[in-house]
Amino acid sequence: MSENMDSIQYKCPNCMAELKFNPRKQGFSCEFCDSFFTPEECQTLQAQMQQEAEQIAPLQDEFEQNNQLYICQSCGAELMTDAQTTATECIYCHNPVILKGRLTGNYRPSKIIPFQFPKEAALLAFHQRCDDLKYLPKDFTSEAQLVHMKGLYVPFWVAECYVHGFMQAECHRAHSYTSGNYEITETEIFDCVREGDIHFSGIPADGESKIDDDLMEAIEPFDYTKLVDFDMSYLSGFLSDKYDVNKQQVFPRIKNRAVNGSDHLMRTSMKGYTSVRVTRSDMNVLKTTWQYMLLPVWFMSYDYQGKRYEIAINGQTQQQAGELPINQKKLNLTCVLITVICTLIGFIIGVIKG
Ligand SMILES: [Zn+2]
Ligand SMILES: [Zn+2]
Repeated sequence: MSENMDSIQYKCPNCMAELKFNPRKQGFSCEFCDSFFTPEECQTLQAQMQQEAEQIAPLQDEFEQNNQLYICQSCGAELMTDAQTTATECIYCHNPVILKGRLTGNYRPSKIIPFQFPKEAALLAFHQRCDDLKYLPKDFTSEAQLVHMKGLYVPFWVAECYVHGFMQAECHRAHSYTSGNYEITETEIFDCVREGDIHFSGIPADGESKIDDDLMEAIEPFDYTKLVDFDMSYLSGFLSDKYDVNKQQVFPRIKNRAVNGSDHLMRTSMKGYTSVRVTRSDMNVLKTTWQYMLLPVWFMSYDYQGKRYEIAINGQTQQQAGELPINQKKLNLTCVLITVICTLIGFIIGVIKG
């Protein structure tokens, strides 16, 4: 392998981008996540990846034979379920879906958190949220609309990140006291340094471009202690989405969260100062490992006055998220009523004074 090292295509274990040979460092670098691997490390990792692929090959075959892939010709969504479940409508746009065949390739999830409560409970939680709100459109909570609430297993990339962090800060600690007629303020200045390895586990990023990332982050966290090995039978009666955002594409999101989390952790460790001015913060993601999994979400979309609203309920914790539509007519009517009442009051006051 020494003659033409640069022609070997290794994939970065962190983000799956193609590694490039770096002649200066005599090893392989990843342009996407700044990782570096020696040729020996690359060979070991390559062998590991191959071994893992061989281990899951039978499961992969079973998956490919037992799933059904549906496609929405209106919005292009690709939905998957098991051979016993029939899908009829698109979860995003409510148009009919057609059976396309089977999903082949690297789409078998390794883990899944099964739904923890039935649809009735999801609807009840949803009603409780809507009951207190006055300005929802009338049909928003109607039977005809609620049939669109579906149990959806959302594809997620869940990462474990190892970060090496270094932070330097100028910290001030001031204290005042009086001496005779003087008020004296003494300021001590410290050069603070923090350095260490930080390990994050369970950083999720959804692999579905059709669902708003913020919506998915708003229903976090999921309890990963309930993770089980994926089995087709969990899909029965539910839909799942085929991921369309790969590891490499979600890596910047994961990296951001790991870097921000590390930065925050180091900042909060500098306690007891009057002021902290960070002069240097280097947070480097050294290694990332991944699991591709399906997480349970009760999902409903609603089109109202040319805008699509998406409502999501965490299928494990019942945490809800999503903007609710506002009926402007109802709202305007109330405003008008308030104005009328105010005018009336003004008029009455005028009459009394007069
Ligand atoms: Zn990389
Ligand atoms: Zn659709």
